[in-house]
Amino acid sequence: MNVLAIGAHPDDVELYCAGTLAKYARQGHSPCIAVICSGDSAALGATPDETARIREQDSKEAAALIGADIHHLRYPDHRIPTDDTIKNQLIEIMRLCCPQVIITHDPNDCYTDHKRTSALVEECIYMAGQANIETQSPPIPQHPYLFYMDTVGGLHFDPHYYVDITSVFDMKRKMLACHSSLTEQTSRFPWGDLAETMDYTARFRGMQAGVRYAEAFRFPREWTWQITNNPLP
Ligand SMILES: [Zn+2]
Repeated sequence: MNVLAIGAHPDDVELYCAGTLAKYARQGHSPCIAVICSGDSAALGATPDETARIREQDSKEAAALIGADIHHLRYPDHRIPTDDTIKNQLIEIMRLCCPQVIITHDPNDCYTDHKRTSALVEECIYMAGQANIETQSPPIPQHPYLFYMDTVGGLHFDPHYYVDITSVFDMKRKMLACHSSLTEQTSRFPWGDLAETMDYTARFRGMQAGVRYAEAFRFPREWTWQITNNPLP
């Protein structure tokens, strides 16, 4: 099975669904990652172009740990368009990966980049299956399952499903650690750095699910057929 995770920023997939991707990979499935923004607004003390280059390299190293293909659309942070160009790019990535499962941000997440990514992905899933919308690759033959990953801080997110990631938590930790360029910036956060944030989020969702570490997911309200056909690992 092919699984495509689409995040707005270079570390979002690692924070919210890398454990699930690692579990899919361990089970012999093929994970694929797409990142919409370059992450150029991070305060690394470098120019936007250099920041984007560093953050792309970080996310490539994280993806390589689980053997995932990764695609970067390289839009500047806070400037995701909603035009046909980005839709065709997303449709082509969906067709290249040909996923049975797509994971992206929740539409109620707090950042505009996350919300816009969510809306674009949901729209493009339908378009990716339509033969009259031409890109380089042929239409996807099946309608993928769509899951929304946890929100920033778990706010406004009442999970439908949990994935027990206890057995792959070390891999999730290693993947996030590839984003070491953010360490100095996030170490100044009063609630804890990136690694701590990931750790207590997974513990909190794990407590809800009755396991040590978990990741939480929802599905679109109207996609009720996903209730009885859950392909999460
Ligand atoms: Zn983000």
